[in-house]
Amino acid sequence: MENKIITVKDLVKNYGEFKAVKSISFDVYEGEIFGLLGPNGAGKSTTLEIIETLRQKTSGSVFVNGLDIDKNPDEIKKIIGVQLQTSGFYPGLTLVELINLFNGLYNKKVDPITLLKKVNLEDKYKSKSKELSGGQKQRFSIATTLINDPKIIFLDEPTTGLDPQARRNLWDLIREIRDNGTTVIITTHYMDEAEQLCDRIAIMDKGQIIKLASPDKMIDDLIATGFERPKQVKAANLEDVFINLTGREMRDE
Ligand code: ADP
Ligand code: MG
Repeated sequence: MENKIITVKDLVKNYGEFKAVKSISFDVYEGEIFGLLGPNGAGKSTTLEIIETLRQKTSGSVFVNGLDIDKNPDEIKKIIGVQLQTSGFYPGLTLVELINLFNGLYNKKVDPITLLKKVNLEDKYKSKSKELSGGQKQRFSIATTLINDPKIIFLDEPTTGLDPQARRNLWDLIREIRDNGTTVIITTHYMDEAEQLCDRIAIMDKGQIIKLASPDKMIDDLIATGFERPKQVKAANLEDVFINLTGREMRDE
């Protein structure tokens, strides 16, 4: 039996007259990587921020690990990790200093080096956040979501702008976090990423969830309608070429 760690029911969010989220309902299971996909403006970030207790809903109900967002927002904050935009880090502080700052915020005493090891940044402990590459910054910001040993982490477009090597490296990290028992909710515009990474996906458009299933089921359902790709697909694509030529090894280390 799968345990529902998040339950969203009839969630509505209006910004004035504009209906950004139009009565959506879905569950997230404990221990899965759940993807929220959809074009820009679909309502993904709004939905995540409401679940994270950072934004007010208009109506509907949301439970996180059995806690009602209306009644227990502070309890919910203690069991979730939210990835901040990397631009939000003080650029002149070292990674150790930043982790200690977060330790203070969360009232925790996580050892900075142990945390940095989890995301393969232990060599960078003396570096300032402004000196990190894009992939390293993303890894560091994921590390900061883990400080309070959360049950669930929320990643809003964590791989946007990364090179293919850094993207793959981040997929491995996210899988590792899931395998260690943390539930992951992620948004992405990369369908290959969602297909590789997510156990289940909700596709949102114009404030509604138009489909929710595993990536495999979604593809099978489309094929069952008689859909065929317009042209013969080659046994490799340009990304395969790129990785084959440049290798999987991370850069900017
Ligand atoms: P997504 O993350 O899927 O791109 P968002 O949740 O950020 O979508 O936004 C959904 C819609 O709500 C968009 O049309 C956006 O312009 C609008 N929106 C988001 N935040 C606000 C806000 N604070 N005030 C007014 N409209 C907003
Ligand atoms: Mg968004």
